[in-house]
Amino acid sequence: MKLSESFHKGKAAISFEIFPPKKEADFRDIDSLLDQLAELNPKFISVTFGAGGTSTVGADGKIQNPTIEIAKKIKAHGIIPAVHLTCLNYTRQEIDAMLLAFQDAGIRNILALRGDRNPDIEPKHDFEHASDLVEYIASHGDFEISGACYPEVHPECLYMDEDLANLKRKVDAGATHLISQLFFDNDYFYEFERKARVAGITVPIEAGIMPVTSKKQIERMGSLCGASIPPKLRVILDKYEDDPKALTDAGIVYAMNQIVDLLAHDVDGVHLYVMNKPDVARRICDGIAHLRNAE
Ligand code: FAD
Repeated sequence: MKLSESFHKGKAAISFEIFPPKKEADFRDIDSLLDQLAELNPKFISVTFGAGGTSTVGADGKIQNPTIEIAKKIKAHGIIPAVHLTCLNYTRQEIDAMLLAFQDAGIRNILALRGDRNPDIEPKHDFEHASDLVEYIASHGDFEISGACYPEVHPECLYMDEDLANLKRKVDAGATHLISQLFFDNDYFYEFERKARVAGITVPIEAGIMPVTSKKQIERMGSLCGASIPPKLRVILDKYEDDPKALTDAGIVYAMNQIVDLLAHDVDGVHLYVMNKPDVARRICDGIAHLRNAE
């Protein structure tokens, strides 16, 4: 069955997002991370893709890409992998090579992204928007394509209606499932979801939730991705910023409150940005175990 067809209203899916470790040595921990995440029975695990723009095709023509290596490991753990793929800084030939590598590795699910603009890197101009990549992938192989969406509007776009019209283009080009940017106030998500449905976007939309474990990290992410920090979260960040264990406890409870509310509102799915922290994912999944099984 296709991933996008496996979402059922009233039975929300939980998926995870991880990232390739920066240091070679930390790759050894990936198997242990996946052992622990596999026990939590996610619908799929996605792996981020560096948007740096450095070519991932080596001089020998082979792909040098940690995203693929980790996706293979996810598959070996019996979980569906989804690879993120950005396009702004890549040529068609480079994308072709990556699609071939995904195909060779038996990876079928791709989160097709434009990638953030980097002022130090001149874009390649083969793909201007994620919808261009979605269209290209749809006509180049047997992949299931997901796209990103923005409950608080993408930072480069001034109006929700315009952002939604662009999102509709992405779906019409072949994206069959959407994952939202992280947010800390569910009302943004509900309003976005309502407007997306009115705009004719009918594919499953997973809500992106990031448990806060560090004030600095969340402020950096927030300013990068445009997620606003509600006053009640600000109070928590200010009070516990110097006590990582207390902040982690508070961040987990905050995320769980968001998730309980989302599940009660029959969201299609929750995509947990687990930041490679299996203990955080475990505590959240344990806390909502009966909600996941409830109709
Ligand atoms: P697009 O869908 O192209 O949208 C970007 C902007 O262009 C929006 O403002 C949109 O309204 C506008 N736009 C779109 N189409 C058109 C059009 N036809 N005409 C005019 N304007 C248009 N980045 C990474 O580098 N690596 C990752 O692994 C990664 N994973 C992510 C996972 C998720 C779930 C999310 C939400 C984001 C992720 N990102 C990642 C960040 C992402 O690359 C950035 O948010 C980027 O700025 C936009 O990517 P997009 O695919 O949403 O772009």
